[in-house]
This record gives sequence, structure tokens and C-alpha cells, in this order.
Amino acid sequence: MKSQLASKIKLCCQDITKIKVDAIVNAANNSLLGGGGVDGAIHRAAGPELLKECRTLHGCEDGDAKITKGYNLPAKYVIHTVGPQSEKPTVLASCYRRSLQVLEESGLRSIAFPCIATGVYGYDNEKAANVALKTVQNELEHNQDKIDQVIFVLFTEKDKNIYRELVPKYFPGA
Ligand code: ADP
Repeated sequence: MKSQLASKIKLCCQDITKIKVDAIVNAANNSLLGGGGVDGAIHRAAGPELLKECRTLHGCEDGDAKITKGYNLPAKYVIHTVGPQSEKPTVLASCYRRSLQVLEESGLRSIAFPCIATGVYGYDNEKAANVALKTVQNELEHNQDKIDQVIFVLFTEKDKNIYRELVPKYFPGA
């Protein structure tokens, strides 16, 4: 039988801009004014109103998270977080923790994460996955009643294989 926590975890191999959840997470840069990778894809799909709102946020520190509306995206909101540009597990953990805190503070209940910092920022995929899973496990344990679903969006074969192996270790039954 699936444990209560495991039932909230889902792996998805789709483009994050197509996912209908309360909030998708953007692996942004400090300016919050758009970039390449998942950031570029989210801005293209959301439309120019997203950039307009991002300009009012005056950037974001590494490891912090800020929320905007989702505009033309199927997701209602976007939570923008900034990963570390080198392998700093405390900063990467903070991205996941702060994103979940912002979700809860906004009264939202479902979220989809890309593999933050593993693209252009070059974080080792398996190390990053362990940080992501440990942090989400810890947050879910403490806030079970506030979060319905956490989706990990796996855009590369490498991340698919890593998460398929690691998820059952952190969420037995998932
Ligand atoms: P970072 O600068 O934080 O490394 P990237 O955007 O370069 O951010 O990559 C972060 C992750 O997002 C990578 O795993 C990459 O494969 C993934 N990614 C890129 N485009 C998309 C997309 N459209 N949907 C989901 N994940 C994506």
C-alpha cells in the first residue's frame, strides 16, 4: 500500500509549461527577467505579461522564491526560484523549501518542479535529485495537510532514470 506521503508524489516526463497544477516552479536567474532553458520556455508559453509582472519583483536571491500569476499557462501561478551556480546543497535545498513555503503561504496545494540547477547551472543530476527528494520529503512530513501533490518534471532520460531509482528510497510505495 502506498504511504500517505508517497501518494502525493508524481513523476512526469512532459514539458512543464503544459502541466495544469496550482503552481509550476521556474528555475530562473537572479534578474527574474527571463533566460534560456526552462525559464525561456515558461516565459514564451506564459506570454509577455509574465515579464511585466517579473519586473515589479526586483530580482531574487539564490535559494529564494517569488510568485507571479501564470497568465497563458495552464498552471495558475509560477514560483520563480534561483538555483546555485555551483554545487551548494544548502542553496539548492532552500530553492525547494522556499518554493513549497510560498505555495503554502499563497493557499495553493499542487506544485510541479523542474530539476533545478541541473541544466545550464551544471549541478550533478544525481546529487541534485537527492537534495530535491530529501528536502521535499522533509517539508511534506511537516506540512502533510497543506500540500496535495508534488510533481517532479523529468525532461531528460538521465533524470528519468535517476528519479525512478531514488524516489522509492525517499517515498516507499511511490
Ligand atoms: P538551471 O539554470 O537552473 O540549470 P535550466 O533551465 O538550464 O536551469 O535547466 C533546469 C532543468 O530544466 C534541466 O533539467 C532541463 O532539462 C529542464 N528543462 C528545460 N526545459 C524544460 C521544460 N520545458 N520543461 C521541463 N523541464 C525543462
